[in-house]
Amino acid sequence: MTAPDNPLATPLQFLKGVGPRRAADLQKAGLTTIEDLLYRFPIRYEDRSRLQPIATLKPGQAASVTGELLNCALRPTRRPGFRIFEALVRDASGAVRVAWLNQPFLRDVLHPHQSEILFGQVEQFGQSGVQLTNPQYEILDDEEGETIHTGRIVAIYEKTGSLTPKMQRRLVHDALERLPVDLEDPLPSSVRERRQLPSRRDALERTHFPEAGASIDVLNQFRSPAQVRLIVEEFFLFQLGLLARRRDLRQERKPQPVIVDDRIRDSARRVLPFHLTGGQRQALKDIVQDMQRPEPMNRLLEGDVGSGKTIVALLAAIVAMENGLQVAFMAPTEILAEQHAANLRRLLAGSTFRLELLRGGRGRSRARSALLADIAAGQVPLVVGTHALVQESVRFASLGLVIIDEQHRFGVVQRAILRAKGLHPDVLVMTATPIPRTLALTAYGDLDVSAIREAPPGRLPIKTVAKPDSRRDEVYSFIRRELDTGHQAYIVYPLVEESAKVDLKAATEMADHLAQEIFPAYRVALLHGRMKADAKERVMQAFAAREVDVLVATTVIEVGIDVPNATVMVIEHAERFGLAQLHQLRGRVGRGGNQSACILLYQAPLSDDSRARLRVMTETTDGAVIAERDLEQRGPGDFFGTRQSGMPTLRVGNLLRDRTLMEDARREAAAWLDAADPSSTSLESLRRTWAERFGLIGVG
Ligand code: ADP
Ligand code: MG
Repeated sequence: MTAPDNPLATPLQFLKGVGPRRAADLQKAGLTTIEDLLYRFPIRYEDRSRLQPIATLKPGQAASVTGELLNCALRPTRRPGFRIFEALVRDASGAVRVAWLNQPFLRDVLHPHQSEILFGQVEQFGQSGVQLTNPQYEILDDEEGETIHTGRIVAIYEKTGSLTPKMQRRLVHDALERLPVDLEDPLPSSVRERRQLPSRRDALERTHFPEAGASIDVLNQFRSPAQVRLIVEEFFLFQLGLLARRRDLRQERKPQPVIVDDRIRDSARRVLPFHLTGGQRQALKDIVQDMQRPEPMNRLLEGDVGSGKTIVALLAAIVAMENGLQVAFMAPTEILAEQHAANLRRLLAGSTFRLELLRGGRGRSRARSALLADIAAGQVPLVVGTHALVQESVRFASLGLVIIDEQHRFGVVQRAILRAKGLHPDVLVMTATPIPRTLALTAYGDLDVSAIREAPPGRLPIKTVAKPDSRRDEVYSFIRRELDTGHQAYIVYPLVEESAKVDLKAATEMADHLAQEIFPAYRVALLHGRMKADAKERVMQAFAAREVDVLVATTVIEVGIDVPNATVMVIEHAERFGLAQLHQLRGRVGRGGNQSACILLYQAPLSDDSRARLRVMTETTDGAVIAERDLEQRGPGDFFGTRQSGMPTLRVGNLLRDRTLMEDARREAAAWLDAADPSSTSLESLRRTWAERFGLIGVG
């Protein structure tokens, strides 16, 4: 085996002390190459640089001392097999007892008269003495010159598998020694100079082995120049890839550009049941402008729940259809697809456009085959369905516009599939999840964004309260009063994957209980994800038609459901839901002109996290505020739920901690790309690096 040209690509086996077994272990921890190792950031730093005179040691502190080792001995204890390695260490001021518990191998490592640096916890010993317990040790031999574990600011790594922080520090040290001084640097020198960032080589060195005198606080905030440099490198590459891809998209040409004239404007106006809000009008303008360009649209329409995105999408669809193009309207769930189909059909009632709902499922029914044939022949201008619409082998004659609702659930992959099929339609993705700006730059960095900020007129803010389960009866009385005024209510149960069966049973039993004992005078129905598609649809339609008063549901109703007459949302076990989900669920009410309420029923006692979540919900209905809190509570990794959402896996950067660096990196990447010669080799190689590092998002 020979080491590759790129020193960072060197497998870890090349390091001292890494045999096949250790290598396999490291691999399990995700570490294969020197690069993997060096880009695994410390989790924190410890200042072990200030050596303390031994005579001044006090119990209860952590201290570094240096001195000569004396009186080493391995002592048995009363516990069988449990032994203590004891020694004295002496400096000019005095001597202190040192004890290592249960590490008998130290007998072969530590010997009298060795010079040591020790760092550890000082504990009371006997009446008035102190001892160092289980200290980190480092043998000072004159050749090494520099200590790596003690007597300095030391990086602490997360323990992974059998890899201890100390082993990792040793490996990192050896790895750094192998790196050439002129290590290749992916961060362009112009960026480095402007932001006064150290070279890659120096940054790696100083991140793992901070220089003497560095500020421990700055290091622990990950704001030393070395750390910032590595974070910016990662973010810069990431943004560069997104921006470069955006530029590529601009080179694409859609099958047929769209024109807009008075006839088309009239056609759109005819379906409008109300006046658009300012935000809706602006969004539509952005979208229609994009549609008239030769390159495909890639736009994100962001608008809080209930802000009225659907009508905007429909108007865009009409423009496409009037141009003889087909439109695919996709929703994340069957229920939502059905609801969209029903809604859109109603809105299109006065027009001549044919709309079809294409159900999922492998069913080879004759009706489905006929529908597929019609779509392929271009006879269905508007097809509504789930994401299966683009994933399966549905063929379109002239697909001009793809609308993807609730993009945070899927989208990246669908966009990729379209492109892979050689289709370049306009793409409009819609999300109700307000996305903190940093994340928007990250997950949707290659999209243009329109946002609808205001709700349609006449909406009253939803009143939200949190109540312990013990006050359930009050909640029932409240629901009855609402039902008596002709309104409807949702009662939602959590359904977590791991205990889906148990939860489903709970929801089912609860529905029976409510129907028979609590609301016997009202119509109660149950809706859950395991039901057959047509059964679900029947229930939803009955609820929409006010034939059902109380809908007991699992979280299948989370997104998109629109029944303006429903004014009560009760969320059972609210403590189990995340903020985004609670916000989505609450958004199912308050959609008409009536005062609506959201009641968060919880099981006491609450954990601190749950309490904080419920408090956010009762304090604000502003989706943007909730999104920021959600991000803070859950961290960026979980914010969107799945990797498929397009979030990159970051090695050194942290989207929460390093928000502003992401924005800086975006600006730097944009400026650099503008100045770069598109055919330059450095651009090519940066893009390759990008594809390797952020492969998944590369598909979007
Ligand atoms: P979302 O953005 O959450 O998808 P919808 O498109 O479902 O919201 O719209 C929510 C409700 O508001 C629907 O009942 C819709 O008909 C209504 N609506 C949307 N825009 C307006 C408007 N400009 N004026 C009045 N009602 C509107
Ligand atoms: Mg919607």
